Amino acid sequence: MAKRDYYEVLGVDKKATESEIKKAYRKLAIKFHPDKNKDDKSAEDKFKEASEAYEVLSDPDKRAKYDQFGHAGLEGAFSGGGFTWNDFTHASDFSDIFGSFGGIFESLFGAGFGGSRRGRQTNRGEDLQISISLSLEEIAKGVDKKIKIGVKDTCKECNGSGSADGDVQTCPQCHGSGQVVQTTRSLFGQMQSVVTCPSCHGKGSTIKNVCKNCGGEGRISTSKTINVHIPAGVSEGQYIRVKGHGNRGIRGGQNGDILVIIREKEHDIFERRDSDLICEFPISFSQAALGSEIFVPTLSGKVKMKIPPGTQSGKVFRLKAQGLPHPNSVYKGDLFVKIILITPTRLNAQEKELFTKLAEFDEGKKLKPGKNFLNKFKEFFA
Ligand SMILES: [Zn+2]
Ligand SMILES: [Zn+2]
Repeated sequence: MAKRDYYEVLGVDKKATESEIKKAYRKLAIKFHPDKNKDDKSAEDKFKEASEAYEVLSDPDKRAKYDQFGHAGLEGAFSGGGFTWNDFTHASDFSDIFGSFGGIFESLFGAGFGGSRRGRQTNRGEDLQISISLSLEEIAKGVDKKIKIGVKDTCKECNGSGSADGDVQTCPQCHGSGQVVQTTRSLFGQMQSVVTCPSCHGKGSTIKNVCKNCGGEGRISTSKTINVHIPAGVSEGQYIRVKGHGNRGIRGGQNGDILVIIREKEHDIFERRDSDLICEFPISFSQAALGSEIFVPTLSGKVKMKIPPGTQSGKVFRLKAQGLPHPNSVYKGDLFVKIILITPTRLNAQEKELFTKLAEFDEGKKLKPGKNFLNKFKEFFA
């Protein structure tokens, strides 16, 4: 079954405020309260679904990730690979609802605590991180990239076993898990903790004749090239997880992942603000006074724009949908063009004459000083 949209689950608008989201969740939590729906197993699922949606949308960070990347953006956000009651952090905010649960509350959460703990994958390889620099043009369209990265991969000599002759014995002390339970005495009584197995050093197996090529790890350093699709609209610091391409685990352990971290190259012309772009455009006195047609740069070529007569320096024009795409959406940001009046510095004789003439007209015109009266920029970003 496809995972439902969180906003749809809560029945709220994408622009819903924190309190609207809270209200919507409260309503659903009461409606699907297992106490009220004793014979309806699906109510419990709906209750859990709403709680997951609330857990995400009530957290600004998770919400932003979800808005940008949908469910994929929350990969790894929950402890067990998916939402469990373990991950719900708001039970105390709704103590009127959750507090009255009694046994059912216990059983829901009990299942979460007991059931969600993943069997620890022994010897899983490490996750690797690599940064990739993208231009705004690439971000605007999305891009496929080939990335070369150093990884540890299966040793061909021993086929990943780490043994020169294939004689690999499961470690008798930890029975292959690489970990043992250690009991220590302290002031507070006996304490149990899980530690790396001292006899196999976490490898889970013992080898008599170690493979010389890999020193018994079953993996060697090499490099490989991966293909990564970068969706349009990504921003600095976000990452894309490429599953199963990280380091090979020791002695045949599972591969880790590669996290491709997005870095944004500075652009010569544009400054980015979320999905919007900003640029400054210089015009002359005569263009400003008489009006003009200018050709404004965008990420996809030049666009004609009309400057009306009497345009002030600092005036900002908005070009709709000439910004960057919102990830996972058909909407695009806008391009804001800030007009800058350029004062001529080297006048020839003729220009000088014309300006002198203009100055005669300017006499008697009163210009009043004020605060930020040309700073139209603020109107857009206040
Ligand atoms: Zn080897
Ligand atoms: Zn062991």
